[in-house]
Amino acid sequence: MDLFEYQGKQYFARYGIPVSPGGEAETVDQAMTVAEGLEFPLVVKAQVRVGGRGKAGGIQLADTLDEVRTHATNILGMDIKGHTVHRLWIERSSDIAKEYYVSFTLDRPNKVYIGMLSKEGGVEIETVAEENPDAIIKLSINPLDGLSLETAAKWVADADLDEEAREQAAALIVKLYTCYVEGDCDLAEINPLILTTDGVVRALDAKVTLDVNATYRHPEWEVWSATDTEDEREAMAKEKGLNYIGLDGSVGIIANGAGLAMSTLDVVQQAGGTAANFLDIGGGANADLMTAAMEVVNADPAVRSIFVNIFGGITRVDEVAKGIIEALRRVDITSPIVLRLDGTNAVEGRALLEPHLNAQLISEPTMLAAARRAVDLAAAPKEG
Ligand code: GDP
Ligand code: MG
Repeated sequence: MDLFEYQGKQYFARYGIPVSPGGEAETVDQAMTVAEGLEFPLVVKAQVRVGGRGKAGGIQLADTLDEVRTHATNILGMDIKGHTVHRLWIERSSDIAKEYYVSFTLDRPNKVYIGMLSKEGGVEIETVAEENPDAIIKLSINPLDGLSLETAAKWVADADLDEEAREQAAALIVKLYTCYVEGDCDLAEINPLILTTDGVVRALDAKVTLDVNATYRHPEWEVWSATDTEDEREAMAKEKGLNYIGLDGSVGIIANGAGLAMSTLDVVQQAGGTAANFLDIGGGANADLMTAAMEVVNADPAVRSIFVNIFGGITRVDEVAKGIIEALRRVDITSPIVLRLDGTNAVEGRALLEPHLNAQLISEPTMLAAARRAVDLAAAPKEG
């Protein structure tokens, strides 16, 4: 789960990493209320999960309440690299002397954590890596050893951070490491990490990706999962407890098991079509689950046909068939459905569905035949 900057900063603050005081706003009025409670000058920042907000005009300094109103009005609704701004973060502005970069992430092949530190922050790290790779000092950290203050102190010296920033930077970096490890982040990045003109080191930006596999030990993440999905289809699926990922094709997919769902995407592609989604309904494909799955797939306006690909193992196909029949009673499906039902009790399942088959509900014996049929139907001109 990717956090917005303001959420990342809230997370940093839990681990004692210095950030500027501020508040969030979803409307111009809220922005004014937040600004009234802070000390000027302020900075108004677009909250989108993409970098380069500064360049896009999504970060503006404000010396007065009137300027806050102007910037909030302009930034809310702005499009930044395809992301619409729905939220602002307003914080006390910093006087910047220097901009650095620091991050922690996983170096999977080498089974270590990797830290990156540079005195050339503020710009995207990819640009630094390309134009001046020596300016990035990498540090491999064995998870069993952790990161000591001594190592961090040596690291900031190696990276040639300004003398007056080093002690604070080393302490902050150790806290960031703790946040990364104990906070179960996949990525914890500060760009820029700043040195202010009055000699203070703090995080001016925050890019945090949480490892959702660790959700069970972080009840504090719950407040953020509500803002996690921007895709309406994904939000609807999440609400119904489905394992769904939105894609941009026209064949809606419902399968049981992640492996089969992925193979289904492949076979649709092989048949010359494009999948509208990934959807794994898991083991017990009962009527409730099937209804929920059909509702979500059917609600996607780009979907032109629905491919239901079920291989019964522990799940019995006759149970799935009952689920499909019940789902069809409950949901008004607007696209033709192609079924491929195989595995345990497939014969019984197909027999149950037989009386319901028509031009809108088609059964095919194999996965490839079903994929071809679904792709053909998706390409056919829409009736009416
Ligand atoms: P990004 O462009 O999405 O990475 O957003 P950042 O939060 O990193 O901000 C981009 C740039 O805006 C920073 O590198 C700063 O130069 C500038 N900026 C952000 N906050 C402040 C601030 O409080 N004061 C000043 N003077 N500049 C700021
Ligand atoms: Mg940044």
